[in-house]
Amino acid sequence: MALTKEELQSAKQHIIEVSRELYDIGLLVRTWGNVSCRIDEDHFLITPTGIRYQDLTPEMIVAVDINDLSYESSFAPSSEKAVHAACYKVRKDVKFIIHTHQVYASCAGTLGLKKIVTYFDDADIIIPVAPYALPGSAKLATNIYNTVKKYSDTNGIIMSNHGAICFGKNSREAMYEAEKLEVACNNFLIDVCKTDMHHGVEVGFNSHKEEGVIVYDISDTPERVKMIHEEIYRRRPDVKYIIHNKSEAVMTVSRRASHMRPLFDDFAQLIGYNVKIPSNEYGKDGQNFHNIKRNVNAVFVLNDGAYCVGSNEDDALAVADVLDKGCIAYNAVMRHGEGHYLSLLECYRNNRYYRKTYSKLAELAEKE
Ligand SMILES: [Zn+2]
Repeated sequence: MALTKEELQSAKQHIIEVSRELYDIGLLVRTWGNVSCRIDEDHFLITPTGIRYQDLTPEMIVAVDINDLSYESSFAPSSEKAVHAACYKVRKDVKFIIHTHQVYASCAGTLGLKKIVTYFDDADIIIPVAPYALPGSAKLATNIYNTVKKYSDTNGIIMSNHGAICFGKNSREAMYEAEKLEVACNNFLIDVCKTDMHHGVEVGFNSHKEEGVIVYDISDTPERVKMIHEEIYRRRPDVKYIIHNKSEAVMTVSRRASHMRPLFDDFAQLIGYNVKIPSNEYGKDGQNFHNIKRNVNAVFVLNDGAYCVGSNEDDALAVADVLDKGCIAYNAVMRHGEGHYLSLLECYRNNRYYRKTYSKLAELAEKE
């Protein structure tokens, strides 16, 4: 039965409210993740692509056909609409879906396991992990379809090297599942991977550029650190903000690793895929001791965390956040003894796709 105009409007409003709630509790960040709700047997409403949750309005929420993914709107629906459609196709009872890049569930999804066996509230649970495929690809939708079908009594699935997808009869059920997954996966990381790491940015020495001059957040920033900032700004004229992340996960990697292969799509997209950690402070030629490259947005320093760069504060913060998640996963994989990394080609495709769409969106926003 078709929804009335008022019902449709309130369904759109509800999607926005749930998106903001998820954003506030930290399960959604930046423009990553998406939320949808079924409106009849063959259609669902979904959040648009590339718009921040704070800026959503009802007319941006797009109705999509479950069978052929067609839609009529000037706003493009989320590029992960096929994944939502796959869930609605298999599970006729599902009315609401949340896709997130939530930290602990995503980290558990990098270990190369087909399922995560863990516990929640003293009960044993199994969380299926859908095999990896590039975001937005038909293969990814097929993988989700098959996993949802195989585990038909489960309302939460991890997407390998990407995130999670949670659903239910209504938004409350889907949200409960997303929160449950996060707690249960953190239990797994602590118990099985011996990785008990709080997610976040532990700020060290930040700076930004104001009319060509470097301004440090902390006035007595040491000379040694200032040299690193100066070197980054000199070699990366596009950088305007530097956030120094000294979180436990990032610090551990800066001490122990020499090279970080991406474990996440968003890491490959936002940070890059040739992230090296110097093994000493002086480097081979005694000069260019930091790995400062055009397409790598995190500069690691031995035993000093990483300097996360962006053309504005928002971008640098997103890099710091995604880097921390990537480093928690890296620690978990090391301690677990195995993991599933993205291939170089997958990293390249992720990075190129993101640069193309993101710069296009930024251009559009500037024109407005
Ligand atoms: Zn995603």
